[in-house]
Amino acid sequence: MGGEEIEYVKEVFASNWIAPLGPCVDGFEQDLATYTGKNYAAALSAGTAAIHLALIILGIKQGDEVICSSFTFSGTVNPVVYQGAVPVFIDSEPETWNMDPVKLEEAIKAGIKKGKMPKAILLVHLYGMPAKLNEITEIAEKYNIPIIEDAAEALGSKYNGKPLGSFGIMSILSFNGNKIITTSGGGALLSDNEEFIKKARFLATQARDNAPHYQHSQIGYNYRMSNVVAAIGRGQMKVLNKRVERKREINAYYYSKIGNLPGISFLEEPSGAYSNHWLTCITVNPELSNGVTREKIRLALEEQNIESRPLWKPMHLQPVFEKYPYFGNGVAEKLFENGLCLPSGTAMNNEDIDRIIEIIKGVYNNN
Ligand SMILES: *Cc1c(COP(=O)(O)O)cnc(C)c1O
Repeated sequence: MGGEEIEYVKEVFASNWIAPLGPCVDGFEQDLATYTGKNYAAALSAGTAAIHLALIILGIKQGDEVICSSFTFSGTVNPVVYQGAVPVFIDSEPETWNMDPVKLEEAIKAGIKKGKMPKAILLVHLYGMPAKLNEITEIAEKYNIPIIEDAAEALGSKYNGKPLGSFGIMSILSFNGNKIITTSGGGALLSDNEEFIKKARFLATQARDNAPHYQHSQIGYNYRMSNVVAAIGRGQMKVLNKRVERKREINAYYYSKIGNLPGISFLEEPSGAYSNHWLTCITVNPELSNGVTREKIRLALEEQNIESRPLWKPMHLQPVFEKYPYFGNGVAEKLFENGLCLPSGTAMNNEDIDRIIEIIKGVYNNN
């Protein structure tokens, strides 16, 4: 927490406006819309809920195909399956680790060939790094397929100066505990289309028709954010830019100290990209690293009670999703094999990072 969250929460308690909804929800939605440059936002219980509502609002149903980044967290894809739709997984390109535009177009053409135009593109900006938006939006426009932007990990990042979360017909954010800002749990749906956001708010509150009694003509969901949770979010927005700044410092610090170790590569910003560097990620190429591997580094850190993690395991390799179509060249697979997320918490100081760096250098020296 940054400090001001408690003041907002106190106000909520003082007014006894705990739930449902309330002024902090309205304020937080306004904060998010302003920050991302979208006209409207709906504060929800989770990023996953936001994706689910986006799919419903686009009319995605049983048997429809939705193109998804394979290299992501399962929260991106689960809602596609909630709808009975079919995720079509696209591999990463090596530069940003996000959806490969070449494979994307290949998948669209394959869909058209069998008479099944994909209904949406669910595009992720993994670890805060912007995907190749120029290429991907061009393809999406060419085939007239809407993009749902999964910016769960990318609040505070920019592409050609424009905030991520502003590129999709609808975009989603997450405020889960591990994200760059958190409300303990929560998410948001963003759009310039007022009808979409009105519809999201309606569906997220059990789809109650406008009547004095409880009247329902559609299936609804309990996906709204409470006023207490939104109060935390309002406080967190005050420190978002500071968090991004510190994440970027942490990334630069690691890079300056271990960037030249043999076989180690960082996920680096191509021109036009500005990443929040949510997590600092490296890959270790075992052919160049004198026998050092990702796993040796991870285990050496673990021995010192320091948690690091392999990169996301691609969705097309997950037992629950492996039956779905996949278009790729094995790029995400390789990243999963050789990649590591280093400790990236903004509460770390440089001495903490020095400890991690010494352990990594130790793996090289003792190998
Ligand atoms: C965290 C995350 C989600 C899901 O957000 P929740 O708020 O945890 O439901 C979706 N996509 C990506 C890429 C994420 O990292």
